[in-house]
Amino acid sequence: MKSLRLSSPAKLNLYLKILSKRPDGFHNIKTLFQRINLCDELSFQPDDSGKIRISCDHPKVPTGSKNLVYKVARQLQELKPVSLGVKIDIQKNIPVAAGLAGGSSNAATALIGLNRVWKLGLSRRELLNIARKIGSDVAFFLHDTAWALGTEKGDKIRKLDIPKKLYFVLVTPCVSLYSWKVYGAFKMQLTKPGDDANILIRNLKQGNILEVGQLLKNDLEAAAIHLCPRLRPLKKKIQSLGITGVMVSGSGPSIFGIAESEQKAQEARQQLLKRYKQVFVVRTL
Ligand code: ATP
Repeated sequence: MKSLRLSSPAKLNLYLKILSKRPDGFHNIKTLFQRINLCDELSFQPDDSGKIRISCDHPKVPTGSKNLVYKVARQLQELKPVSLGVKIDIQKNIPVAAGLAGGSSNAATALIGLNRVWKLGLSRRELLNIARKIGSDVAFFLHDTAWALGTEKGDKIRKLDIPKKLYFVLVTPCVSLYSWKVYGAFKMQLTKPGDDANILIRNLKQGNILEVGQLLKNDLEAAAIHLCPRLRPLKKKIQSLGITGVMVSGSGPSIFGIAESEQKAQEARQQLLKRYKQVFVVRTL
């Protein structure tokens, strides 16, 4: 059986507004997703053992039934009772529990990869139904687009056509922040009214980077900083390097800043490396 290797990209949220709490305990949100060129690599080796075997080079990622890739494979096996097995190796480059949705991206890549190597012939709609059971961020990665607007739990996706490629400096402090904890610390009454997503998208389409920097929004930022106070000086440090818009990504702790050019992003990275270990220059995919 033929093996397959796929890249699994991270995301940044340039806009994340929390609209309301849902009866199921989740939140209705409006978010602007962007794929970036920081990617894990997944390789799929199908066999007829009926077993799912996961290996991963990152010590914090479980390789058993808690791995989102394992969960995807299990769901697919249950949906199509076949005797197919698979070995999946995950090479992690995306920091874990960092607000970059590495696990969700791996899950989406597994849906796409297993649909191919197991020749399941599932439609995108069928894959999306499974994606939604695995996690709210998975649906975005099933869409072939660099930019999208996510609503409801973040899993109702509208693709956006934005030709502009942005460069970012991205810092992931060595601390894990779990989404459920950040949402737990978030206080609904602290969200400011107003919805600037359309203005942000218009400025992105026009390539107005300075305005985009001013329009970034993340309702979870205050909660992430509350749980991890060292994010505040990090944000200030990035701003002091002449980077236009600086924001916590998703539920953090990663913080990104938009740079005017790749060179500006590289210069900021050199400065930040003096104090932080995980500093990346990334761009829109
Ligand atoms: P999000 O922004 O969607 O909340 P995140 O970037 O904060 O995601 P992830 O890197 O997706 O967080 O990991 C969150 C948790 O999921 C980790 O504690 C990790 O143990 C678990 N996990 C399960 N499968 C994976 C996977 N394939 N890759 C990374 N983490 C995984």
